[in-house]
Amino acid sequence: MTARILVVDDIPANVRLLEVRLLAEYFEVLTATNGPDAIETCENGKVDVVLLDVMMPDMDGFEVCRRLKSDPATSHIPVVMITALDQVSDRVRGLEAGADDFLTKPVNDLQLMTRVKSLVRLKSLTDELRLRASTTRNIGIEELLSRNFASEDTTPKVLLIDERKSSVERVQKMLRDRADLDISSDPHAGFFQAAETSYECVMISTAFADFDPLRLCSQLRSLDRTRFVPIILLAEEGEEERIIRGLELGINDYLMRPIDQQELTARLRTQVRRKRYNDQLRASVTQTIEMAVTDGLTGLHNRRYLDSHLQTLFDRAVARRRPLSVMITDLDRFKAINDAHGHDGGDEVLREFARRLRKNVRGIDLACRFGGEEFVVVMPDTEGAVAEKVAERIRAEIAQAPFAIGQEGKTIEVTVSVGVSSVLKGVDTVAALMKRADLALYEAKSGGRNRVVAKAA
Ligand code: GH3
Ligand code: MG
Ligand code: MG
Repeated sequence: MTARILVVDDIPANVRLLEVRLLAEYFEVLTATNGPDAIETCENGKVDVVLLDVMMPDMDGFEVCRRLKSDPATSHIPVVMITALDQVSDRVRGLEAGADDFLTKPVNDLQLMTRVKSLVRLKSLTDELRLRASTTRNIGIEELLSRNFASEDTTPKVLLIDERKSSVERVQKMLRDRADLDISSDPHAGFFQAAETSYECVMISTAFADFDPLRLCSQLRSLDRTRFVPIILLAEEGEEERIIRGLELGINDYLMRPIDQQELTARLRTQVRRKRYNDQLRASVTQTIEMAVTDGLTGLHNRRYLDSHLQTLFDRAVARRRPLSVMITDLDRFKAINDAHGHDGGDEVLREFARRLRKNVRGIDLACRFGGEEFVVVMPDTEGAVAEKVAERIRAEIAQAPFAIGQEGKTIEVTVSVGVSSVLKGVDTVAALMKRADLALYEAKSGGRNRVVAKAA
C-alpha cells in the first residue's frame, strides 16, 4: 500500500522521527512545520493522511484540523492528531475539531502503522467513490458535503453488543438522547441483528466470558450487508494487542474502559459522520451510473449501455460456443405519428412500445433503446430460428392491439419492422452482426413493413 502521509510538527526532530518510520514502511512522506504550510500542502497535493501535532505556535493543531475539515476540498483527508499528553480533554477537542483519530507521544510504532494503514484504506475507498461521482456527473462534492452536515441532526441508530449488564447500563445512560441504541447481550444473536437492521455504528465489548469479540468483527466485515458499518471496540486497559488485531481486521475505532462520556459521543459522531458521507457518495454514484446507462423516456437501457455490453456478451458466446442473436426494431411511419399526434403523442407510443417489448423478452435478454424509434434486443443463448419467433411475437403484439394516446380514449394503429441476425460459427464480429441485422431491417422496410426478416448469414 503506497500512500502520501503529511507529517506536521513545529519541531524538526519530531518530523524526522516519524518520517523515518513511515519511509521504512514505504510510505511517501511530505512534511510541514506550521499550520498554514500544512493546509497549503493539503490543498495542492495528493495527501492521503495527515499526522498533525497539536501544540504548535501561532496556529495550533486543533485550528489546522478545523480548517481542513471545513473546506470541502480537504475535508475528506483523514487527520490524526498527535498529542503530547494522554489527556481525554485533548482527544475530545481533537475529535470535535473533526479529527479522525489521534495518537499520543511517544508514538507507539504498531499503533502508528495500523492506524495510518486503516485510514489509508478508508481514504482510498472514499477517493474511488469521489472519483466516480465526479466523473459520471458533474455533481458538486461540496453540495454533497453540505447536505451531509445537514443530516447530522438525525439521531444515529446504534447497536451495542455486550453481555455485561452494568456496562450496558452505563453506555445506555451516556448515549441517552444521543443515539437510538439497541442492545444485544449475545454475540451470535448480535451478529444477526447487525445484519438484519441497518445500523450506523456497532459497538462491541471485548469482555465476553466465552467468546472472541474479534471473531464477531471479522464476521461483520466479511458479510456484504455489514461490510461498511463502523465498528467501535470497547476494550479494557492492557488490551493493546487485541485492539491492533482488531484494527487490522477492519474495526474503525476503539475506546478504553473506563469509558469517558465525551469521548464516546465524539467518537461515535465521527464514525457516523463518515458513514453518512460515504453512504451518500455511494448512493450518488449508483444513481449517476443508472442515469448514465438508462434511457429516460422508456426506462430501458440506452445505447451507451449496449455499446459497452454487447462486445462482452458476444465474446462470452463465442468462447462458450453458445448461440447469440440480436434484433433491431424500427417503428413504421413514426414520423407520421408525430405529425398527427404531436411529439408528446409520439413519446407515449414509444413508452408503450418499450413496455410491450420488455414483456416479450426474457430477463437475461438485453433490451435497449438504440435511438429515436429504434430498439435493439440482444438475446444470449438463442438460435436464429428462436430469435425470429420472438421477433414475430413482438411484431404481432404491436400490430394486434392499438395504442392509446392522450386522455380522450383515442387510439392509433402502430406497426413495427424487425431485422434479426445471429452470431456465425467461424469468423464473426459485433460490427458484422449488427450490420446484418440492419440489412435485414432494411429488407423488412422495403418489403412492405410490419414484418420480420432474419439474416441466416
Ligand atoms: P420508417 O421507419 O417506416 O421508414 O418511417 P419513419 O417515419 O419511422 O422514419 P424515420 O426513421 O425517418 O423517422 C423517425 C422519426 O422519429 C423521426 C423523429 O422525428 C422521430 N423521433 C426520434 N426520436 C423521437 C423521440 O424521442 N420522440 C418522438 N416523439 N419522436 C422521435
Ligand atoms: Mg428510424
Ligand atoms: Mg421508423
